[in-house]
Amino acid sequence: MSNTDQVYPPSAEFAAQANATAEMYQRAKDDPNEFWAEQARQLSWDTPFSTVLDWSDAPFAKWFADGKLNVAVNCVDRHVDAGKGDRVAIHWIGEPGDTRDITYSQLKDEVSKAANYFTAIGLQTGDRVAIYMPMVPEAIITMLACARLGLTHSVVFAGFSSAALRARVDDAAAKVVVTTDGQYRRGEPAPLKAAVDEALGTGDDAAPSIEKVIVVRRTNHDPDLPWVDGRDVWWEDTVEESSPVHEPEAFDAEHPLFLLYTSGTTGSPKGIVHSSGGYLTQANYTFHNVFDHKEGRDVFWCTADIGWVTGHTYIVYGPLSAGATEIVYEGTPNSPDEHRHFNIIEKYGVTTYYTAPTLIRTFMKWGREIPGAHDLTSLRLLGTVGEPINPEAWRWYYDVIGGNRCPIVDTWWQTETGGHMLAPLPGVTTCTPGSAMGPLPGISAKIVDDNGNELPTGEQGYLVLDQPWPGMLRGIWGDPQRFKDTYWSRFAEQGWYFAGDGARYDENGALWVLGRVDDVMNVSGHRISTAEVESALVAHPAVAEAAVIGAADETTGQGIVAFVILMEHATPGDELIAEMRNQVAVDISPIAKPREINIVPELPKTRSGKIMRRLLKDVAEGRELGDTSTLVDPSVFEAIRSQRG
Ligand code: ATP
Ligand code: MG
Repeated sequence: MSNTDQVYPPSAEFAAQANATAEMYQRAKDDPNEFWAEQARQLSWDTPFSTVLDWSDAPFAKWFADGKLNVAVNCVDRHVDAGKGDRVAIHWIGEPGDTRDITYSQLKDEVSKAANYFTAIGLQTGDRVAIYMPMVPEAIITMLACARLGLTHSVVFAGFSSAALRARVDDAAAKVVVTTDGQYRRGEPAPLKAAVDEALGTGDDAAPSIEKVIVVRRTNHDPDLPWVDGRDVWWEDTVEESSPVHEPEAFDAEHPLFLLYTSGTTGSPKGIVHSSGGYLTQANYTFHNVFDHKEGRDVFWCTADIGWVTGHTYIVYGPLSAGATEIVYEGTPNSPDEHRHFNIIEKYGVTTYYTAPTLIRTFMKWGREIPGAHDLTSLRLLGTVGEPINPEAWRWYYDVIGGNRCPIVDTWWQTETGGHMLAPLPGVTTCTPGSAMGPLPGISAKIVDDNGNELPTGEQGYLVLDQPWPGMLRGIWGDPQRFKDTYWSRFAEQGWYFAGDGARYDENGALWVLGRVDDVMNVSGHRISTAEVESALVAHPAVAEAAVIGAADETTGQGIVAFVILMEHATPGDELIAEMRNQVAVDISPIAKPREINIVPELPKTRSGKIMRRLLKDVAEGRELGDTSTLVDPSVFEAIRSQRG
């Protein structure tokens, strides 16, 4: 790969003030249980734990099992009790430009009101609540109110269809759906409750578990909003009218805090179950160390949606358990124009910005003049998550957004892992662009072959997690067998978790995640990673985004098929295609030259910004599309098919 020789050591200034230290790696290795106990003690426990890990019923882990805590108290009340009630927890920015600043004291009142109302309607510890909402403060308030009562929440991304919502409501047997009347989409109100009505049905068709639908007024777009009497209530008439005083109780560390469905990149989504004490420990630990959080000084911004795990861990539980001040933005990055994110960074003095590679590549496509028009000097740390970041985009992010000053943390993790697993420690690690560097202190990973043998430097294999960790999933909702089959069967003998991703170590010991092993292509017996070919294509100045798949090929086994989006200034044509193929040959090998390059206007993505390669493969191999329930925009396929002719 080109330019991998340039590495980025931390500056002396950053290192001098960093939360993380190099000795943490050794300390965690010497005594992992003591290391994790120390992290867990950063939280407030009503009953302190005396055991750390119980792995006797593997793969069903228990962490801090005899301890009791309240997750919402840890995220809200304890900061108020410590005299920080006036600190802003959330600077909320609505898409149309309305704003709300919510202090920790106010957050405590709001969460308490919701908890009181949820109790009044008969919800009890262990019941499930579905949350189908845009990025409004009430979504976070609802999550925390559930945590306060020991209700298990299930957030369903508000861009999903009514069918996807219904499937998730039924799977979890949720008693309540919390939603809004509508949501803003690029300045225009669009209905949302209508999708809830459709999902929940009526008469014989009605979702059997549902008792109430609580509706937050957001867009107020419909004076005749359809209403089911007895089932539907307005948040303003119920939660808002409830008492702001609520006495919390403590729950077992293993109490299920939430379930959340994976993004569906590789197959049908799985309802991942997370715990309370172990999950919150890992959220808090990684937030403090990987984001180098400085209480009372930093302004943190994670641009994810609460509909996926990044929003759970790094908008809700990580930052709030740490007493952080953060930005929550409702809308899209180009509403009303492409300056939106940079305006927000400038106005609020954002110090820490965490986003996905897909957005960074979009910013690159829009051009550096846009961030260049803003004072971004408040930034001191940048992060990425969701997909491998190609080195080209990493360097652009470092230079154009970070002003060659901010460390970048490339964080590899999954819905299943609950929090960061592989990432550099800012102030400690010398970074290689494109690499997630290695396991965090306390985390253990290996790269192995089919038989579980560790592979030497340079060879790609399976990324496995060979030790349990506190934030690990506790199962798939209602399906223990699928949990074992999906994650624990490949290396059952060794008792390792197989993450689904391929990886390799480079000669400097940096770990490169190469994408899903299911996506690794086999061309005439050569194993080629989709991520590497994509990275080579994106390194061409005319290319903004690329997705690569291996399609069945009579002569070579698989042939490489690429789909690329061009930069605005680029001129499509045979010459350009030849250049792109050549770029791959030079960067990787002539064997990796795509058989076919399609120039397309859009790529199929999940709402969390990941390319759905399995659907592109369906197109390339002429099949019906598989599960598209989590796809943002199904119409992209018409455009893609018409380009292929
Ligand atoms: P499904 O499991 O339903 O197919 P998904 O795997 O896309 O969906 P997530 O849990 O949201 O659902 O995504 C986790 C995956 O995202 C990882 O397994 C990995 O493939 C990819 N990923 C996340 N962060 C990084 C990163 N920093 N570098 C490389 N890959 C990453
Ligand atoms: Mg996955």
